[in-house]
Amino acid sequence: MKIVTSRMDLASLMSDNKKMGKSIGFVPTMGYLHEGHLTLAKAAREQNDLVVMSIFVNPLQFGPGEDFETYPRDPERDTALAESAGVDYLFIPAVEEMYPNPLSLDIKVTDRIDVLCGKKRQGHFDGVAAVLIKLFNLVSPDRAYFGLKDAQQVAVIHGIIADLFFPIEIVEIPTVREEDGLAKSSRNVRLSEKERQEAPELYQALLKARKAVLDGEKSTAKIEGIVKKHINESTSGKIDYVEIYAYPSLKAIESFDVKGKAIIAIAVQFDKARLIDNIILNMDF
Ligand code: AMP
Repeated sequence: MKIVTSRMDLASLMSDNKKMGKSIGFVPTMGYLHEGHLTLAKAAREQNDLVVMSIFVNPLQFGPGEDFETYPRDPERDTALAESAGVDYLFIPAVEEMYPNPLSLDIKVTDRIDVLCGKKRQGHFDGVAAVLIKLFNLVSPDRAYFGLKDAQQVAVIHGIIADLFFPIEIVEIPTVREEDGLAKSSRNVRLSEKERQEAPELYQALLKARKAVLDGEKSTAKIEGIVKKHINESTSGKIDYVEIYAYPSLKAIESFDVKGKAIIAIAVQFDKARLIDNIILNMDF
């Protein structure tokens, strides 16, 4: 595995590989790698000649008062894990390497951001879009891998790809969980022992909701109520949102009596960690 820190080096390595006809799979991350990231890398390994992973804690996607400074980082451990997952090139740029100058254009995501984390974290997806556009241009991947734990991010990325004609296939990977159901996340290390014991209840709340829908409950308001009650009764976390939409359009729905997919998405603020999770239901049963 080769570690690359310069954007020019990365671009020229990718161009050399492209000339040799190699297909490139790309896995963008913010590091502090866990099994979720490694599952993305392994899928990329299976489907491409080359696997490129980036590790970059992108300041533009953190709002004021969010955890940019304290976001967990461990490049040494990440390097070993990336290599074990079959990554060929690990791109770890400094902030100045990705943002040598202030942006001269305003990158603003306008679709699907008035809900969920887009509404709660103003500007977050603008920062995500800015860094991904840069990374896509440097790597020129054939395929890029994203986790459905961040389902709104996946939906927004489909919009960017379509708008800017990036010739990139987006591969969506289902959420990887701990044995007790907690969605793997770099931020889980910031849970206290007690919070860590409570945190699997987020997924339990989603499973309870799914069961209620499969048992015939059609009202999204009632399902939101079931999820909120479960989280409030079984955790000390503060609910940021529990929301239900059609997926991937993220359009509001009042009833599960719809065609296609629906997402039940939650965000819960614990003392030092804000956790998100979701479940996507296929309503064509
Ligand atoms: P992050 O480092 O949190 O920006 O995540 C990098 C990529 O890994 C994103 O596409 C995430 O959706 C994905 N990812 C993070 N956690 C998980 C998980 N538990 N299961 C699947 N994918 C994940």
